[in-house]
Amino acid sequence: MLDSIVELLNKHDFKIVMATGTAAIPAWMARRYPQVMRTGVDGTHQIFGGRHNFCPSSPKFRSAARALASRVAQRYTGEKNLVCWHVNNEYGNGGGYCYCDTCAQEFRHWLERKYGSVEALNRAWCMNFWSHTIHDWSDVVPPVTYGDGIGTDKCVISGLQVDYRRFQNEQMLACYTIERDAIREFDTETPITTNLMGTFKDLDYFSWGREMDVVSWDNYPGMDTQPSFTAMCHDLMRGVGGGKPFMLMEQTPNQQNWFPYCKVKRPGEVGKLSWQAVAHGADTVQFFQLKQSIGGCERFHGAVIGHDNSDRSRTYREVRALGSDLQDRAKQLMGSRVKARVAVMFDWENYWSLEGCVGPTQGLHYPDEVHRFYRPFWKRNVAVDMIESTADVDVLKQYDIVVAPTLIMVKPGVADNLEEYVRSGGRLVTGYMSGIHNEFDLVIPGGYPGPLRELCGLWVEEIDAIAPDATIDVNLGGEEAGDHADGTIVASIIELEGAQTLATYGGDDFYAGTAAATVHEVGDGKAYFIGTALDDAGMSALIDPIIDESGVPTIDAPENVEVMRRYADDGTVFTIVTNTGDEATEWTDEQGVLHQLNPFAVLVLTNE
Ligand SMILES: [Zn+2]
Repeated sequence: MLDSIVELLNKHDFKIVMATGTAAIPAWMARRYPQVMRTGVDGTHQIFGGRHNFCPSSPKFRSAARALASRVAQRYTGEKNLVCWHVNNEYGNGGGYCYCDTCAQEFRHWLERKYGSVEALNRAWCMNFWSHTIHDWSDVVPPVTYGDGIGTDKCVISGLQVDYRRFQNEQMLACYTIERDAIREFDTETPITTNLMGTFKDLDYFSWGREMDVVSWDNYPGMDTQPSFTAMCHDLMRGVGGGKPFMLMEQTPNQQNWFPYCKVKRPGEVGKLSWQAVAHGADTVQFFQLKQSIGGCERFHGAVIGHDNSDRSRTYREVRALGSDLQDRAKQLMGSRVKARVAVMFDWENYWSLEGCVGPTQGLHYPDEVHRFYRPFWKRNVAVDMIESTADVDVLKQYDIVVAPTLIMVKPGVADNLEEYVRSGGRLVTGYMSGIHNEFDLVIPGGYPGPLRELCGLWVEEIDAIAPDATIDVNLGGEEAGDHADGTIVASIIELEGAQTLATYGGDDFYAGTAAATVHEVGDGKAYFIGTALDDAGMSALIDPIIDESGVPTIDAPENVEVMRRYADDGTVFTIVTNTGDEATEWTDEQGVLHQLNPFAVLVLTNE
C-alpha cells in the first residue's frame, strides 16, 4: 500500500516526509502484548483504543518500534523525493505519562543512579515531611493519584513529581532516539525529526532539540490565542532547534475540530498564520490534513481537499495561492536567520516546578506568565530568542536584555551566570515567584528570591495571592491618571536592600505604598524586578523604557501588525509584515512608504 502511495507522490513530484507509524498501538499488538499499553495516573491499564497509548519503558514496544522504523528505512532510503524522516507523532499528546510497574521499576533504577543512596534521596525530597522517610528503593512509587499524586500536576512530595517528569521525559526521548538510530543505519543523510507541540508541558523540548536534526512543530492556535502567543511559540521552537530554521509540520487549512467551538478560518487567515511562522524562522509550511476523513473523531478537522472532494472550495484555493506565493520566495528565504538582541528564558523544569506548587495560588500558568513578559517586546516588533535558564554566560552576553519570567527554580550555576551577565553590562528582567526553589524543588532558605536576592537588591518577605476576580492597584510613578496598572495573581511584598523603586502598590492594604517594581544597578548593568503580574499596559510601561535605554531597535506599527526580519547569508534582508487582525489597517515603513493592509494581509519586502 505504501509503495503505491510513494509511486503516486513521485509521479506528481511531491516531496515526501516519511513517518514511521508507531504512535498508535494496533489491535493485534494490544491483544498479544498487553504490557505495551500505557497505565494512567489513576492506575487504569489501557486496553486497545485511542493513540499515544504505549508505555515508553516497555521493552516490547521499543523493540517493535525499532523494527518497524528499520523496515521502513530499509525500504525507502534513497527514494528520489524523500526529504525528511518523521518519527512517531506528537509524543505524549493526550496520553500523559505512564505509571505502570515497568516504569516504576525503571524509575527506581533511575533514582538509584542519580542519588546513590536512599538517605540521599530522603534528603533531596525532604521525605521527613508527613513521615515519608523510606528505607528501601522498593518503597518508591510513582506519583499516582492513589499515592502521593494530587491530580497529574501536583504532588505531596514535589521533588518526586519533578523527578518523575524528568524520568518520563528521558524514557519518551529514548523511544525517539531508538527509532532515529534505526533509520540512521540505512540512511545517513536525510534529516530526522518528530513533531513537537509548542509549550506542551510534559516533555522538556530543549533536551529533544539536541537529538533532532531539525525541529518541527504543530501550530494550532485556538479562538482566543493572541498572535503574540503564537509568535512566542514559533520563537520557542526555533530556540529548541538551536536558532536554526524549523519546519511547520502541521496546521489546519481551516477549522480545528477539538475545541468546544471551532470557527472556520477567515479569508486570508491561513496565509497570515503560515507567513507568521515563516517570519519567525519556519522553512516549511505544511498541513494536516490533505484529504478530509469521512470517519473518526477528526472528520470535521479542516483539510486541503474537503468532503466536497474538489478543487473548488475556498480552502483549497487559498492553500493553492499560498503555495504559489511561497514558491516565489522559497529559494531566497530558506536558510535565512532571525537575529535577536533580546532573550526570554523558557525552562521546562521551571514549568513543572511553578505549576507543581500547592500554594500560594493556583492562578499561575507558566506559558502565560512567560508570554506576559514576551508581549511588550512583540508589540514593538523586537525579535526575541527563547533560551534555557541554564544557558551559558557567553550566550547571555550576546543579548542586551535577558528576561527570566517566574524563574522559580534556580539550578546550579544559573545565579552566578546572571550576576556575571549583569555586572558586565546586561539588563536582567525578572520578578514575582523567582528564586525560590533549587534543582530538587526544595525551597532555598534565607529569604526570597534566594540566590537572586543580592543581585536584585531586595527581599521578598511575603507573597500575597490575589483572587481571580480581583486586582491590586499599581502606581507606575508618573503624575497622570493613566500611570496606574492592575496587578493580578500574586503580589510580592518587597523590602528594599539597595534596589530603587520603579512602581508602588496603591490601594489601602497594609503594604500600600511599598515597592511593586524595582531596579538595582550592579556593576555596569541593571537587574529589574517586577513584583506582580501586571496587565498588558503595565508590563509595557515598565519594559518599554528598558528597551529604549538598551538601544535595541524597534519598529513602529499599529497594534496587531507584526514586523519581523530574516537575514540571508547573501545580505538579503526580508521584512515580513503580517496584519494579524481581522480589520484593515495601514503601515508606514521606515522609508516613509504607506502600505494598505487588508485583514490578515501579508507583505514581504526586501532590501534589494
Ligand atoms: Zn510504563
